[in-house]
Amino acid sequence: MAQPPLELATLPVEEVPCPLCDADDGRLLSTQQGRFGVVKCRRCGLVRLSPRPTREAARRLYDATYYAAGGYDDYVKTFERFRDVYERLFAKRLALLSRYVAGPGRLLECGCAHGFQLEWLRRQGWEVAGNDVSAEAAAYARQHFGLEVVEAPLEEAALEPASFDAAYLVDIVEHLYNPGAALANVRAALKPGGVILVQVPYELYRWEKIGQALWERKRPGTVAPDAVPYHVTFFTPRTLKAMLQRNGFAVLARYSGNYGTIRKYLSPPEIRVGSTLETAARFIYYKLGLRPALQTLALWFKQGSGVIYVATPA
Ligand SMILES: [Zn+2]
Repeated sequence: MAQPPLELATLPVEEVPCPLCDADDGRLLSTQQGRFGVVKCRRCGLVRLSPRPTREAARRLYDATYYAAGGYDDYVKTFERFRDVYERLFAKRLALLSRYVAGPGRLLECGCAHGFQLEWLRRQGWEVAGNDVSAEAAAYARQHFGLEVVEAPLEEAALEPASFDAAYLVDIVEHLYNPGAALANVRAALKPGGVILVQVPYELYRWEKIGQALWERKRPGTVAPDAVPYHVTFFTPRTLKAMLQRNGFAVLARYSGNYGTIRKYLSPPEIRVGSTLETAARFIYYKLGLRPALQTLALWFKQGSGVIYVATPA
């Protein structure tokens, strides 16, 4: 740990324009933790965090606290504990990618954290490399698995041009300060015909979040998004697709993702909250099978907790 944990209340912040269309014209949906704005662009509809921590403050946040905070408890211990759940997710993701890339080939994982998925992929015969902004995570990946990790924000990462058959960007784009530049960087690192698999959380406008807003008598989009201030962009299927297209990708397919699967195991939903009516409603929703039923139904309509696109350079 290079620095002590930062106080969110005194973190330096900055206001930023829309990372998709550059417009400055936003509508405030909500204020989180008393100082971070959740703002919807009036021109293109993308939702961003503004004010958000400055770049320098964000770097320190990731170094000092991210893999201990952010709902992951101790990341390494969590992986060991739920290894089978993780490996099922890895296998499912690879099966999906394999519909578009003849593998095994060379794969880059952007936001590879401690390298667990890369190490698993290597066992499946893939040649792998990673990228992560966290010095602590990158050091772990190198020391424990001998992985090659480019330690830098993805926007600035020095990636070998035209050298990868595939890239994963799983639960990373929503963290990036300049997602467009990062996507362009990954695009240049792909071989001709290379493919990316991108997953982001489907926040704020997914059916469950809209339901939550209505239940709380709020307007859709105004409930608290996940992981503020680590998440700085809150995508929908439409805005993520626009972000990919604007940065030189053609979309091949869309799928429903599994964002938050592990956290479901770590912190099950609380039932006894608020009034008797609310506790009863939560019991029916979480315990009597209403939620799993709705979630299964949602997957059929591609309304799962994550948005996945498979895309290739246009
Ligand atoms: Zn915009």
